[in-house]
Amino acid sequence: MNVSGVFVYIGSSPNTSFLGNLVDRDEAGFILTDENLCTKTKGLFAAGDARKKTLRQIATAVGDGAIAAVNLERYILEIR
Ligand SMILES: Cc1cc2nc3c(=O)[nH]c(=O)nc-3n(C[C@H](O)[C@H](O)[C@H](O)COP(=O)(O)OP(=O)(O)OC[C@H]3O[C@@H](n4cnc5c(N)ncnc54)[C@H](O)[C@@H]3O)c2cc1C
Repeated sequence: MNVSGVFVYIGSSPNTSFLGNLVDRDEAGFILTDENLCTKTKGLFAAGDARKKTLRQIATAVGDGAIAAVNLERYILEIR
């Protein structure tokens, strides 16, 4: 194949180990959440590239942020 340049994508490794056992992860280290972005620890939410999902882009990261923020607010109101 005759090309003028090559962009090598070697994958990514999420920095999630500092969370210890507070979250479940997949085999690559991405955090498992439910649809409300809750982790297995009540009150701990995950958003963006660090969580397991099919598309890691700005648009989905921003959407995750909105969902996590709303559900975090609901959680805080619930425990007050
Ligand atoms: C080369 C490349 C090209 C891309 N091109 C596009 C594109 O064209 N369009 C598009 O939509 N998306 C693109 N993306 C994807 C996009 O950048 C990500 O989906 C988006 O940035 C995810 O946002 P995020 O906030 O989840 O994570 P990030 O933007 O990675 O932000 C995470 C932040 O957390 C910080 N952090 C990590 N660990 C800790 C810690 N322990 N304590 C405190 N802070 C910590 C990091 O330093 C970082 O600032 C690209 C990604 C790459 C790598």
